Amino acid sequence: MNIEEFREFGKASVDYIADYLENIRNMNVLSSVEPGYLSNELPEKTPFFGEPWQGVLSDVDRVIVPGLTHWQSPNFHAYFPTANSYPGVVGELFSAGLGCISTDWESNPACVELEVRMMDWLAKMLGLPNHFLNESEGPGGGVIQNAASESTLVGLLSGKQRTIKTILNENPKLTANEVKEKLIAYTSKESNSSVEKASLLASVPMRLLSTDDNCSLRGKVLQEAINEDRAAGLIPCCVVASLGTTGTCAFDDLEELGKICAKENMWLHVDAAYAGAALVCPEYRYLMKGIEYVDSFNFNPHKWFLVNSDCSAMWFKNTNDVEAAFKLQSSMIKDPTFKPQIEDWQIPTSRRFRALKLWFVMRIYGVEGIQKYIREQVSLAKYLESLVREDDRYELLVSSLGVVCFRLKGDDSLTQLLLDRIAESKKLYIMPYYYHKNFVVRFVICSRLTTTHDIDFAWHEISSIVEEISNGVVTSSTECEKPRNENTPADPLTKAMKGFSTEKKEKFKLGLFL
Ligand SMILES: *Cc1c(COP(=O)(O)O)cnc(C)c1O
Repeated sequence: MNIEEFREFGKASVDYIADYLENIRNMNVLSSVEPGYLSNELPEKTPFFGEPWQGVLSDVDRVIVPGLTHWQSPNFHAYFPTANSYPGVVGELFSAGLGCISTDWESNPACVELEVRMMDWLAKMLGLPNHFLNESEGPGGGVIQNAASESTLVGLLSGKQRTIKTILNENPKLTANEVKEKLIAYTSKESNSSVEKASLLASVPMRLLSTDDNCSLRGKVLQEAINEDRAAGLIPCCVVASLGTTGTCAFDDLEELGKICAKENMWLHVDAAYAGAALVCPEYRYLMKGIEYVDSFNFNPHKWFLVNSDCSAMWFKNTNDVEAAFKLQSSMIKDPTFKPQIEDWQIPTSRRFRALKLWFVMRIYGVEGIQKYIREQVSLAKYLESLVREDDRYELLVSSLGVVCFRLKGDDSLTQLLLDRIAESKKLYIMPYYYHKNFVVRFVICSRLTTTHDIDFAWHEISSIVEEISNGVVTSSTECEKPRNENTPADPLTKAMKGFSTEKKEKFKLGLFL
């Protein structure tokens, strides 16, 4: 491909993407393809002779788009938002087009310096404490990571290292290995599954603590667990708290947990992957009460902050701790040309130019534009909440930021049936959740394109299914999928979990499916 063809391909592609987003409402959010569909559509081998771009673009249209789950569809209400915006897309294009990455400052001054400044812009926008800023006098700072999962791992590794160092200083006779095998960390059972994964990767066992009725981890439960473990000779080293759990957008009590972490000399990492974006609106900042105790804080601009994936923002109160865990001896020798050396706070060696899309989004939307976006999304959730409340066939269980959970009153099988029917229709994508031992419809405002009309559409779809259920048109969830043995009652969870692995099913039953 020569440069002229690149111009043509690039322009045609931008047009294609604009048309796709403009018409996304006309497609079912879920695809109708069968497993393995693509293997019939594509040749088994790479073409020997290169092909013109026109054929590739038309195959995107012919075979890729029909197999997509449309995450940007206004009818996508599953998981959490996956950010997308025009400035974000162009930022991503620039990152690819300029083709620069960075390691240290010398490798790419603009890339490093823009990231350092953008992390400060972001921290100020969210109202985070000054000690997290790169420009602050102290040892704090922020860097862009790939994902919330990775940030949790980085936080946990930093906490692990800090504890080992402290214990060895106090007990010079111990060896690092003797300390390592006694370490233990804590999170709530409502935390994202990536927290457990981080514990596996960091080789620090993690206790999943129970929450209060609002799915929030409280100080008393943490303190009891710590006391128990200390009595058994273990060394508590880290707490991963959630601000906005994946299930029901619940908030752990940072202030209670933080005081305990300070007293027990434990690292406090906060996973605010989704809900962190709401802090851009001052009215939600009460949710981070206790933030002054936090050692590392993470949220995903690539979720609810209009910056395309991947972009996960992470701040440290004291970057010396993460450097103690990661920094190679060899890089300590030379005097840095520029500080901070953000490359020492991440796992990969190099980093993509992700600060560009953050810059584009923050400049083109402005603080005001992003606040407006968050408030509009929350008001859509409030609107749905009002529809649920007005109809006495439903029970509202959760309404937190963009997450609304409700169920049909009466037997659980009704809600299950509703969820099955929604999934079969492919017009809406909504995940089931298992909340306080009941099936709930977990409805999230996800797409930037969702409007009140789309909520009305979703509610109309839901209502007509419920109408059918109450008229007895649809009576049994086993209608479409017969149990293998007529004498065996169908597993009540089977249908909503269609396609889940056994392990995922088990987790789902415990309410840990995400
Ligand atoms: C989505 C989510 C994650 C995982 O985010 P990645 O960036 O995909 O790793 C972690 N924690 C919470 C609370 C989430 O909502």
